Amino acid sequence: MTDNSIFQDKKAAYYTLGCKLNFAETSTLGQALKEAGVRTVRKGEQADICVVNTCSVTEVADRKCRQAINRLVKNHPDAFVVVTGCYAQLKPERIADIDGVNLVVGAEQKGEILALIEKHFAEAETQVLHTPMKEIRSFAPSCSRGDRTRYFLKVQDGCDYFCTYCTIPYARGRSRNGTIASLVEQAERVAAEGGKEIVITGVNIGDFGKTTGESFFDLVKALDAVEGIQRYRISSIEPNLLTDEIIDYVAQSRAFMPHFHIPLQSGCDEVLKLMHRRYDTALFANRIAHIKRVMPDAFIGVDVIVGTRGETEEYFDVAYRFLQGLDVTQLHVFSYSERPGTQALKIDHKVSPEEKHRRSQLLLNLSDEKTEAFYARHIGREATVLLEHPKPGQPFHGFTENYVRVEVADAPAHMDNQLVRVRMGEFNEDKTALKATII
Ligand code: SF4
Repeated sequence: MTDNSIFQDKKAAYYTLGCKLNFAETSTLGQALKEAGVRTVRKGEQADICVVNTCSVTEVADRKCRQAINRLVKNHPDAFVVVTGCYAQLKPERIADIDGVNLVVGAEQKGEILALIEKHFAEAETQVLHTPMKEIRSFAPSCSRGDRTRYFLKVQDGCDYFCTYCTIPYARGRSRNGTIASLVEQAERVAAEGGKEIVITGVNIGDFGKTTGESFFDLVKALDAVEGIQRYRISSIEPNLLTDEIIDYVAQSRAFMPHFHIPLQSGCDEVLKLMHRRYDTALFANRIAHIKRVMPDAFIGVDVIVGTRGETEEYFDVAYRFLQGLDVTQLHVFSYSERPGTQALKIDHKVSPEEKHRRSQLLLNLSDEKTEAFYARHIGREATVLLEHPKPGQPFHGFTENYVRVEVADAPAHMDNQLVRVRMGEFNEDKTALKATII
């Protein structure tokens, strides 16, 4: 950065759509801009720079991105507007056509946004920096504090799987990752800042090591040894990559929590085949059984998509029964959305929006039943909770090792980011947490 940097005394507005990875990346960029002299706009102020980090997981997400860009352009008419993220990689020209957009940054150049803003700040023409998906190689490191107590450490980006319904490999490129040494260094920095909990994120994190010849298991072991970090959570990991050795290691590790998030997508083998997923329901059931054998109280969240092309009523019934019998804690239910350019569009059978809604409701109800039963088992038990700063007028809350959300009304004000022992009591009013008291 030059001494007469364009960033001095500037104000920026940020808008992020989509997944945790996007939020982590925006936060890292915001931190870099802050260090360069840019502060975040306050309510009612005009920004000099607007950054929109987009998502393209569904058609609705695309529309929301365009709306967010239009809104920012309208509210900050003199700002330099930068758009990045998955939608920017997939539809750069479509975004460049939106009035007021100055810079469109695809996946390859995402790590250099600061330098790119500086370079193009004074240009009148909209700049589109886009590299075809196959050539995307760069890994932009990012470790950021979320809006809560947790930090998000991005260890991997991109995906080589090409599931038939998914556009992520086209938006984020091939699987690549940081080195274990560099990621351990980032975790050490979090510990030095006083951070206690890190969520390991990525697009297909079990595939970690493709570009460095390392493995996700080695990463887990190396991070577990970082002093000061007391908790790690592994975000979504593909079932075929969640090996016995990882599960067994987590069961006896110092800091990895008994908490898993595993995408199943469908509980019917025929649909899994249509989706080109790399496992069947037998493998999935085996993974869950193994986790429960060595960690009976582990929280297991499962992603499911309803209404994919080819999911007949009969197949959905099979999937429902499979999920019903599965010892998991929560279902994250998504309705299938048609994505241009995906292989799924070649499958004939289409599910109507009404039917997708019906299936989604059935699974959401099943999820509520499972979560409630899991929580109920914890009433009367003790646990360690990492307290999180409450919203105004609300009690402190936090999560146990195995991700039970608790509310701690008797926590003193200075207890944010502290680990405390609690005893869990009854459900709170809306059944989203257990009431707990410090012991
Ligand atoms: S594993 Fe499948 S669903 Fe997940 S990002 Fe890769 S292609 Fe998409």
